[in-house]
Amino acid sequence: MTKVDVQANLQAIKDTLPEHVTLVAVSKYHPNEQLLAAYEAGQRVFGESHEQELSKKHDTLPADIQWHFIGHLQTNKVKYIAPYITMIDAVDSVKLLKEINKQALKNNRVIDVLLELHIAQEATKYGFTLEACREYLASGEWRELNNVRICGLMMMASNTDDEQQIAREFSEAATFFDEVKTTYFADDDAFCQRSWGMSDDYPIAVKCQSTMVRVGTAIFGPRVY
Ligand SMILES: *Cc1c(COP(=O)(O)O)cnc(C)c1O
Repeated sequence: MTKVDVQANLQAIKDTLPEHVTLVAVSKYHPNEQLLAAYEAGQRVFGESHEQELSKKHDTLPADIQWHFIGHLQTNKVKYIAPYITMIDAVDSVKLLKEINKQALKNNRVIDVLLELHIAQEATKYGFTLEACREYLASGEWRELNNVRICGLMMMASNTDDEQQIAREFSEAATFFDEVKTTYFADDDAFCQRSWGMSDDYPIAVKCQSTMVRVGTAIFGPRVY
C-alpha cells in the first residue's frame, strides 16, 4: 500500500481555501498517528462521527484539538461528549438539540451547534427539511435553550457526479442561510457558519459561500472500515 502524505495533502488543500474557510479534518476510521501528522502540521480542528472512537481519540491525543461531531448523533451518546466537544455539526432533530442543551447545562457550558438541513435527493440523509427548519425557528422554542448556541447550518449534497446539481443544492442552502440569518439571527454574530463541502465537492462548496468544509479522504486517504 502506498503511504499517504497527510501533511502534503493538508497543505495542498489549505493552499486552495480562502482564509475565512475553516477546514475540519475528518479523521474517522484513521489511526492516531495519521491525526498526529496533521496536528504537527498545525491542524487543530478534527471531525469524527462515532462517539466511542471520538472519546478514545480525545483521551489520547493533544488537549488543544478542537473536536467536531459531524455525523448522526444518538441522543443517548450526547452525555459522553458534552464535557469536551467544540461543536456538534449535524443537529438533525429538536430532540437532539434539547438533549445537547440538557447535557451542556450539566457540564456548566454552552455547546456550539449547527442545524443540519436535508436538501439532497437521497432518502437516507438526515436533517431538517427547509420547511421543518423554518417551522421550528418560527416556534421560538430554541430561544429557551440557553446552553446551546446555534452557529449556523450544515448540509451534505447529493452523492452524484452532476456538479450542477451539487452547486444547486449548495446554493439552495446558502439562500436559506440568508433567510434564517435575516429573520432570526441578524443581531447574532455567532450565527455565521455555512458548513458544506467534502473531499469531492469542497471547491464547489467554497464557490457557494461555504465557511466550513469537512474533508477526510483528500487528507488521510481512503478509509478502511
Ligand atoms: C465522512 C464525512 C465527511 C468527509 O468525507 P470525505 O468524502 O472523506 O471528505 C464529511 N462530512 C460528513 C458528515 C461525514 O460523515
